[in-house]
Amino acid sequence: MPESYLVIGGSGFLGSHIVDGLLNRGESSVAVFDIVQRVFDDRITFFNGDICNEKQLSDAISRCQASVIIHTATPSPEAPKEILERVNVQGTQTIIAACIANSVPKLVFTSSAGVVFNRNNIVDADERLPFPQSEEAYNKTKQMAEDIVLAANGKDGLATCALRPAGIFGPRDRLMMPSAAQVVTRGQWKIQIGKNDNIFDWTYVDNVVVAHLLACDKLSITEVPIANEDLGVALPQITL
Ligand code: NAD
Repeated sequence: MPESYLVIGGSGFLGSHIVDGLLNRGESSVAVFDIVQRVFDDRITFFNGDICNEKQLSDAISRCQASVIIHTATPSPEAPKEILERVNVQGTQTIIAACIANSVPKLVFTSSAGVVFNRNNIVDADERLPFPQSEEAYNKTKQMAEDIVLAANGKDGLATCALRPAGIFGPRDRLMMPSAAQVVTRGQWKIQIGKNDNIFDWTYVDNVVVAHLLACDKLSITEVPIANEDLGVALPQITL
């Protein structure tokens, strides 16, 4: 049976590229759920709605008969704390409830590398690195959303996973490169903080799309070890 995909946040930078990736590989059932419409393509069904509204979500899921949901929606990292909490936490809970109510088998969640940001250099970290106490509302609410998504894995036939991209760049980026360009246009590029030895991970958007499509294809309900000790291996050294 071919899958039916619903990309939540599919009008956004990453979401719209995921939609392109699905269409380019020949998927015949691709839908978008978003509060705004920025993607106009006859091959896509668009549902206008808010992820905090379970009725709107459930209607969309049942109308497109979604078998795979990709949840990329988020407010801007600079949005007020209340909005970040509402959309990232309450919205993600609502998505899980709607998935279960509609017997959706697969949910792929776009988390963020920010969930493990601890104000120190992090090198060679993997998913065993525990969440630090986070003061930034964006990182904190992404941590909470990831917890909600992973806790739902295996419940009522729903398989879930979370991917943590670092900085994403590419066409249609409205956040990272525009901010960097603003620094230049404001003449702030002569200011240097630190010794110029800081590093940051960047991933081209098409590679993040591939990761999402692979997750959609490979996701199934499996038992995963929860505690680091269960793995029987030491955590890699992560701070410089
Ligand atoms: P974006 O702002 O371009 O897209 C987010 C989309 O979510 C927008 O289209 C927006 O309208 C939609 N949305 C927001 N609130 C909604 C709501 N209540 N209901 C329905 N839709 C809603 O953001 P992006 O850069 O494409 O990020 C996508 C995902 O990738 C996010 O989860 C983000 O945390 C994650 N991420 C992004 C980066 C990056 O560098 N851009 C890095 C790491 C992780």
